[in-house]
Amino acid sequence: MIRAYTITSGKGGVGKTTLTVNLGISLAQLERETYILDADIGMANMALILGMDDVPVTLHEVLAGKADIEDAIYEGPAGVKVVPSGISLQGFQQADPDKLRDVMHKLVDRCEFLLIDAPSGISKEGVVPLSVADQVILVVNPELASMADALKTKILCEVMGGQVYGAILNRAGEEHTEIRSHSVEDVLGVRVIDVVPEDASVRRAAAYKSPCVLKYPTAPATKAFKRIAAHMSGVD
Ligand code: ADP
Ligand code: MG
Repeated sequence: MIRAYTITSGKGGVGKTTLTVNLGISLAQLERETYILDADIGMANMALILGMDDVPVTLHEVLAGKADIEDAIYEGPAGVKVVPSGISLQGFQQADPDKLRDVMHKLVDRCEFLLIDAPSGISKEGVVPLSVADQVILVVNPELASMADALKTKILCEVMGGQVYGAILNRAGEEHTEIRSHSVEDVLGVRVIDVVPEDASVRRAAAYKSPCVLKYPTAPATKAFKRIAAHMSGVD
């Protein structure tokens, strides 16, 4: 069974962290033992979204060799286990992305799903998560720049020996100039797993430091997150 998924993109700000957190909680609500790991060690904001930004030990200390992974695991909403990253620049500078492989192996043995929130782009810390997971999910927005950058990331992933599970088209709207699923599939050469609509509830929920699936259980984006989780856990 596939257990470790890296959630990545080419362009930043397309919804990776939002997807990781909301999918992780939805999988936990389906009673799947789920871990979410913030591997975006330079621009970490999973902890902020979850209101966990004051925890004492994070992935930064683990990747710096100063703490054990056991000490960086926290209980999140619906029982999802959260491994946050720190937000300090100094912590980022001391973290060694190569240690991520080891961290992932330790976590994957104890869960049914491990979702890794990866950095966007092609930096060293962005490349490592592409090859450590079983499968990679590409998050794209319905615009050309997002697609062009996602294509680069997909090629890089293949070069690194990673497997692309598919793409998620996030922030989809009604605009007729927008890129649609079939174009994403044509350009990227991967299937679109699902489409998450543009939904103001996502940002509203973030302002309350509460993920959308909890704060707005019937919102259109919540329905999409739950559908994806059901698909991944094989209950749809
Ligand atoms: P990334 O992790 O890829 O940088 P984030 O998850 O931080 O992206 O999302 C970037 C911004 O987009 C955030 O303000 C988030 O609330 C908003 N966002 C993400 N998905 C949606 C959506 N489906 N509808 C509306 N806003 C969204
Ligand atoms: Mg992010």
